[in-house]
Amino acid sequence: MAAPSQPQQATYDAIVIGAGIQGSFAAYHLARRHRDTLLLEQFLLPHSRGSSHGQSRITRSAYPKAPYARMMPDSFQLWQRLEEEAGTSLYRQTGLVVLGPAGDPELESCRHSLGDTQLLDAVTLAQRFPGLRLHPGEVALWDGTAGVLFADRALRAVQDVFRRHGGTLRDGEKVLSIQPGAVLTVTTTAGMYRAPRLIITAGAWTGALVAPLGLHLPLQPLRIDVCYWREKEPGTPSAGRTSPCFMTLGLSQAPHGIYGLPALEYPGLVKVCHHHGSPTDPEERDWAPPGAPRPDVTLLSTFISSYLPGLEPRPAVVETCLYTNTPDEDFILDRHPKFSNIIIGAGFSGHGFKLAPVVGKLLCELSLGEEPSHSTAPFAISRFLTAVL
Ligand SMILES: Cc1cc2nc3c(=O)[nH]c(=O)nc-3n(C[C@H](O)[C@H](O)[C@H](O)COP(=O)(O)OP(=O)(O)OC[C@H]3O[C@@H](n4cnc5c(N)ncnc54)[C@H](O)[C@@H]3O)c2cc1C
Repeated sequence: MAAPSQPQQATYDAIVIGAGIQGSFAAYHLARRHRDTLLLEQFLLPHSRGSSHGQSRITRSAYPKAPYARMMPDSFQLWQRLEEEAGTSLYRQTGLVVLGPAGDPELESCRHSLGDTQLLDAVTLAQRFPGLRLHPGEVALWDGTAGVLFADRALRAVQDVFRRHGGTLRDGEKVLSIQPGAVLTVTTTAGMYRAPRLIITAGAWTGALVAPLGLHLPLQPLRIDVCYWREKEPGTPSAGRTSPCFMTLGLSQAPHGIYGLPALEYPGLVKVCHHHGSPTDPEERDWAPPGAPRPDVTLLSTFISSYLPGLEPRPAVVETCLYTNTPDEDFILDRHPKFSNIIIGAGFSGHGFKLAPVVGKLLCELSLGEEPSHSTAPFAISRFLTAVL
């Protein structure tokens, strides 16, 4: 009989908790900079219990908020560098249309982020993208830089390159406690590790991990219905494989925050989702009373009948995913107010994947005590009323 395995004990230059896309990129940047780094993940990889799984995420330059728009060129470059390092393709450029009412301030901010490009009216949009219907008074903005990131493949790639740079990834190992100090101690289900710096990127579990450190962040995990819709006639340009991504601002017959991606995951099924969800606990995400209404699915069906008539208005596949939202839907990228060698990256509010290479770089820089290469002022913890014990 094999002897029970000994608890692990080791000291590193840095520890990162959570091997989603943000923690994996933070660890990757640390390892590229020759820091001996431990990346810890509670579940065996790959898993689908957090926020980074699935085949696709939208990336784009069009951003209504300037701090994100300013980071996007850097992000596109870093994704390209990862593709080269990993020797695999992680991105398909499809373009994206932002649909909104003419004159909408958010649409104008997006237009500004693209250098004040032309708007398309309903007729021009119908000629270029026959699947999408606009209603009177609505216009579209074209972002030709946008496209789809292959999410699962990207996560695997960044973790592979991290390991190639000498990093250690331990999955199936949950962090149970963090002991602050000049050299921190992290206790997991399998061992005890020490390092002079720690990055916490634990997605929907971040609140529970930082609360014992006296930090109460307003992070709300949300359960998201990820819906795929069948083309009525397979292969039509309704919104099929070759069509662009889209996202809506408030439209006359649809609310803000519906977005879609071309059929990638499942042949002939187009992903159309709502950028909102129901409050949940990450441990109870799959529990719903039998027959519970799914308001997002109903809302999406109505949108599809009105704006994407080439799709069946009933979802063919519904999966789930988690957002972790802050009240202003802006990220948290900051030091712990009391323990400055603990860095927190959280609250990505459903739009963090595309920016993960830059987020990881900023978290790495903060952990090394360097001036971050983009201002992290908009992402400061101090904007929330937090109680530090
Ligand atoms: C349906 C959906 C669609 C989206 N679409 C887009 C999009 O189009 N474009 C875009 O830019 N973004 C999009 N996002 C958002 C993006 O995917 C997330 O912002 C991003 O994946 C968040 O990554 P994360 O690393 O913070 O979280 P996660 O991926 O959840 O990673 C956190 C990890 O920490 C681990 N962990 C937690 N606690 C512990 C512990 N105690 N010990 C060890 N490990 C622990 C978890 O198991 C998890 O693996 C979407 C998200 C969803 C859900």
